[in-house]
Amino acid sequence: MNPSTAAPGSQASLREANRLRVVEALRDQGAMTQVEIAGFTGLSPATVSNLVKDLDAAGAVELEPSIRNGRRAVLVSLATGNTLLAGIAFGDRDVRVAIGTGPRDIIGRQRMPLPADHAADEGMERAVRLLLDLVEKAGKTMGDVRAVGVGIPAPVDRVSGQVGSESILPGWRGVAVGHEMAGRLQAPVDVDNTSNLAALGELRCGVLQGVQHGVYIKLSHGVGAGLILDGDIFRGAAGTAGEIGHLTIDENGPVCRCGNRGCLETYIGSRGLLESLAASHGPLSLRDVIHRALAGDAGCRRVLEDAGRHLGVAVAGVVNLVNPEVVVLGGQLSKVGSIITTPMRASLERCAIPSAAASLEVRMGELDTDADVIGALVSAGALLPANEGVLATAGITS
Ligand SMILES: [Zn+2]
Repeated sequence: MNPSTAAPGSQASLREANRLRVVEALRDQGAMTQVEIAGFTGLSPATVSNLVKDLDAAGAVELEPSIRNGRRAVLVSLATGNTLLAGIAFGDRDVRVAIGTGPRDIIGRQRMPLPADHAADEGMERAVRLLLDLVEKAGKTMGDVRAVGVGIPAPVDRVSGQVGSESILPGWRGVAVGHEMAGRLQAPVDVDNTSNLAALGELRCGVLQGVQHGVYIKLSHGVGAGLILDGDIFRGAAGTAGEIGHLTIDENGPVCRCGNRGCLETYIGSRGLLESLAASHGPLSLRDVIHRALAGDAGCRRVLEDAGRHLGVAVAGVVNLVNPEVVVLGGQLSKVGSIITTPMRASLERCAIPSAAASLEVRMGELDTDADVIGALVSAGALLPANEGVLATAGITS
């Protein structure tokens, strides 16, 4: 519901529309101070103060003393009652689950490894088990989980709800993930690509807050991107926009798991990185490579620097197309920082339109590897009807 479309007219209907605006802001953003609510909704501080007073009197919000930017402040959050959201993020090798009353208010989280070639059934089964466990530990029941956001590390066709590729994440081919999970959990489910969700997490709760045009790049076993255009996630016609990992860097390059040649992922994905080091370093995990590179191992640094150069070529293409203000690097491989960002920046400056590259800021993600699961909680929150529970308590009828 868009409060700005509320019928104009009486003072009462305007007040009700404004009250709804505050509630929706708190629902989407989690706890905020009154100053932040005013900034976010565009309402005056005096109006916000009156509305919060009303909502508090109606039991619709909770007020909690806190410290913000070194000053005392009162955080306003929605009174949650029994409403719980769940976020589930599947990785190539693990699944992470979090529950909370909002993306900033996580009350429990858990992670479980998954075999690299797991079948969808096994992944979903483990995720459901983790979620049940978390809900129980929080003293709640599955009936309290009102919506679930699910992320999978592959392009997701938003129309069919299936993995939009035959060869990426083959164990999940043809599975209607949203439908399956909704059946298992008896709650509404939104399914998205984990890079989109990580971008959404950073947009609402992290380093991309307030950014209108940005690109989030998730560097892990694979590589993916989430595009933010006009302050919102851009998914394209079928939901698969942002597949930066399968941009062609070299038409004659090595064959990729997607079936093409020379995709970015063949240079910066864990498979390619580990293969380049196998002869000199023996079998390593991605984590080993990251630790050794940070400890100064020349070979590990070299393959990551080369990967950074290739990444810069791909990012230059994206920068030329969408002219973002900010590029954010996240995912576990981003932990090597300047080992990747320095060569990336150099390629970017060589390949991108100079004015676009000059105004571009490269930042590191703020939410670490939790960005996607936090984004999944944001997307779960968006499934709740705006008048869910709290609005009834607040006496809002429209
Ligand atoms: Zn590919």
